Formats: sequence, C-alpha cells, structure tokens
Amino acid sequence: MKPLRTPAALVAAALVPPERLAALEQVAARYAVSLTPDVIDLINLDDPADPIARQFVPDPSELAVRPEESADPIGDDAHSPVEGIIHRYPDRVLLKPVHICPVYCRSCLRRESVGPGHRRWLSRAALVRALNYIRARPQIWEVILTGGDPLVLSPRRLRDVVRALERIEHVKIVRVHTRVPVVAPARITAELVRAIKAPRNASSKATYVVLHANHPRELSARARAACARIVDAGIPMLSQSVLLRGVNDDPDTLAALMRTLVENRIKPYYLHHGDLAPGTGHLRTTIPQGQALIRALHGRLSGLCQPTYVLDIPGGHGKSPIGPSYLERVPSAGEDARFEIEDFNAGRHLYPPARQDDS
Ligand code: SF4
Repeated sequence: MKPLRTPAALVAAALVPPERLAALEQVAARYAVSLTPDVIDLINLDDPADPIARQFVPDPSELAVRPEESADPIGDDAHSPVEGIIHRYPDRVLLKPVHICPVYCRSCLRRESVGPGHRRWLSRAALVRALNYIRARPQIWEVILTGGDPLVLSPRRLRDVVRALERIEHVKIVRVHTRVPVVAPARITAELVRAIKAPRNASSKATYVVLHANHPRELSARARAACARIVDAGIPMLSQSVLLRGVNDDPDTLAALMRTLVENRIKPYYLHHGDLAPGTGHLRTTIPQGQALIRALHGRLSGLCQPTYVLDIPGGHGKSPIGPSYLERVPSAGEDARFEIEDFNAGRHLYPPARQDDS
C-alpha cells in the first residue's frame, strides 16, 4: 500500500465520507496531507472519533483560523540567521535539512513551511552555510536535527550531515527529532541507525533520538521494534508529545502513553501545549485543562513517566514549563521563608514543618 496524499484517496479508503470531499480539497490546497500505510493500519474505521485519525486525517475545521493563530506560531523566523538554522537559545541550534515528512500531522506547528509545496531539501550550498554558522560559534554545544522529519533522508545523506557535525569540536550532542519510528518504522534500518550514531570516542559526542508520539496505540509492534533497534545500538531515546483535544486529553490515555514509552526505554521529555498554528484551534486544550491532567499524573505514575508540560511562548521567546505549582510561600516573619506544599493526594504541609513553639 502507498501513502494516501489526497482527499479523494482518503474517500476511496473510507477514511472520510464523500460529502466532506469539497471542504477537504480546500484544506489540502493549503496544508499537506499524507498518511503512511503504518498509520492507516492503526486507524479504527468504526470509530468516528478515532484518536489516530484525528491526528492525521484532515478536517474541515482547519479552515477556521483564529485571530491569535499565526503562520509562525513560535517565532522561528526572528531567530533564523541563515537558511536552515534556528538559533533561539545560546547553547543549541535547530538544523533543518529537510522540509518534508512521511505524514503531515494536523496539529503541526510548522504546517505553513513543511510539505511538497515548499522547498523539499536544504540545498548543498545552504547546508554548507548552515554548518559554517555552527562551526563559527563555539557556544553551540547541541545541534537538533528537525525539519520536516530528518529521518526521511537517506542513510548516506544523514551520515554526511552527522559526520560534518562530528568534525566540529564544540558540538557534543546531536539530537534527532522524528516521528518516523511510529509512522514508517521500516525506515529504521541498521544502516540508518549507524548513520545517525555519533561515535563514542575521545571527543565524547552523543546522539539522542526524540520520538514524537501522542497516543499509546502509536507504539505498535513494528514501532516498538524500530525503537528497540535505535536503543539497542546505544542511542538514548526521549519522547515529546503534544497535548491534543480528542487524542490524549484524558488521564488514562496520557498515563498509558507515558508508561508505554518508558516500557520501551523511551524517557518522556516534553508534553507540549498546542501551539497557535493556523487552523488547529479544534485540537487545542486550555492551559488549566493541561495543568489538571499533569496533576492527575503526579503521584499516580512513576517519576520516570512524568514529562515536563511546556509552552513555546509566541514571538520566539522560547519554552517555559507551565505545569501546576505545588508550592506556595507562607507569609512569615523574619528571614526564614516558610512554604506550604501540596502532596499527590492534595494534602497540604508546612515546610519546614511547624515547630512545637510555633503555636
Ligand atoms: S512529523 Fe513533525 S514536522 Fe512533520 S508534520 Fe508532523 S509534527 Fe510537523
């Protein structure tokens, strides 16, 4: 089976009803569409609210753009000194060698800049300029390969990029952000894994892979095997998930997702609040809903399963944690600060604990 890339193909596969075709043609004219055979396999056609379909099958709601939404929702453009580089934080950069993906997530924050309607790859000259930018800045400790999805590149092209980064003395970490292990797991071959793995030699470089997964069903047997090929090769894996209405915005689904990741040796890293990308309002929760979900996970799940709930601040100001606070300062005399702290059963305690002579 080939990927489905048009609304007509989705109708033919019974993934959307024919009466939606005209509206979806309008959506597809603006935002790329692609569902891989692995993703199609995961969709339950009998469930009109299927959480996998909701992530990948286009929806007429995408035509409704809210005033607060933006084509550049996290301010990438303001931090792009050369093509292919986003340099927002002092010690790390994003390097985007490719602008296409095997699937197009309906919630994608870069939906206005990925897909076949855009330049597919960074040209060789632009890649050289991007690498020169990194080489000239000794403060850059980490390079994050993203896109698009960098693992759509051939092993040969990936190897060229990773080896070029390895030759830059001050770059110690290569981090790869990808959805490929869940949406196209057969691409994770031994050759590809060798291509992205930085050698553990005297220069102490390391590759990390960050998997984007939003629902526990995405960790299919094939996806788990693909992740195992990465971890067994000695590459640590982390995950990032986006909090999405109707996909994972309930404690049971989030708990199952985080536990499934950890069981597969993938440490949950970030839970992103939905970005203000155009036409994604129907998929966003509110921040109080997100905080309530994080509270529900606190104490109920092992610390290994706890991601940091973060918001990428619009305008390019970077990520900040926005999880609930468990600590409140209690007005107290003198210099010794006192606090009230909430435990995982919602009990409240003074810290330091009250002394006998406090009464
Ligand atoms: S794989 Fe990543 S970059 Fe590609 S559409 Fe999905 S979220 Fe966007």
